[in-house]
Amino acid sequence: MPREERGFWIRLAIKRRKFCVESGVASRFLKERKHFYRICLNVELDEAQPRTSVKKGIGVSSSQLIKKFDTDFTNEVIEYGSKFFEDVENVRSCIQCATCTGSCPSGRETAWRVRKLIRQVQLGLKKAAIKNDVLWDCTTCYTCQERCPRLIPITDIVRAVRNIAVRNGIMLPRHVQVAGLMVKHGHAVPINDETKAVRKELGLSELPPTVHSFPDALGEVRKLLDETGFTKLIEEASKGG
Ligand code: SF4
Ligand code: SF4
Repeated sequence: MPREERGFWIRLAIKRRKFCVESGVASRFLKERKHFYRICLNVELDEAQPRTSVKKGIGVSSSQLIKKFDTDFTNEVIEYGSKFFEDVENVRSCIQCATCTGSCPSGRETAWRVRKLIRQVQLGLKKAAIKNDVLWDCTTCYTCQERCPRLIPITDIVRAVRNIAVRNGIMLPRHVQVAGLMVKHGHAVPINDETKAVRKELGLSELPPTVHSFPDALGEVRKLLDETGFTKLIEEASKGG
């Protein structure tokens, strides 16, 4: 089969699976792969649903499936990520070998599975990708990125997806809190008496050479935060907006 045609059928198979899972319709191939797609979508498939052909089960033709496939998120990650990072489009070539997840130190301690995120990006599953708290469990250590056999900038993609999540108003409360300190004090970790004492013991000045030592610079920091939209973002997130 010519390469282009093979690519077409692979894309169609992916579209069918996504559509079936979202429609809650079980099919033979879907049941065989149900565990994987359950992982991708964080959904429970109903074991009692009858096995049926995809077309019969969902009542649409293959060409309709193509139209329904949502590549917006895949394109969004590539377009947005490419502003800051290189080779983001390589995400399309992930073969799900799991080298990344197998190498991930965070995955050993948490439910974070980076391979799953890459798959969600490939399948255009925006909601499942950005509305999951484990997205923030990556430590950005870059181990996965160094080892990916497809040279996918995995960690950069995690960072891009996080930025997209924040732009959609999705932030963890503790991040909103720390960002609020930045807006208020021009410093994510404000100084306290204990830290001042430790600095003194180490022979340092009590205050670090930041806005703590140069309070006039706080206005400049706030101006930057205002002009980049950071302050507004944090205000809205604080209100839960
Ligand atoms: S290591 Fe690379 S190719 Fe393998 S699953 Fe992870 S992202 Fe995909
Ligand atoms: S960068 Fe993140 S996802 Fe990759 S290995 Fe490190 S903790 Fe895991």
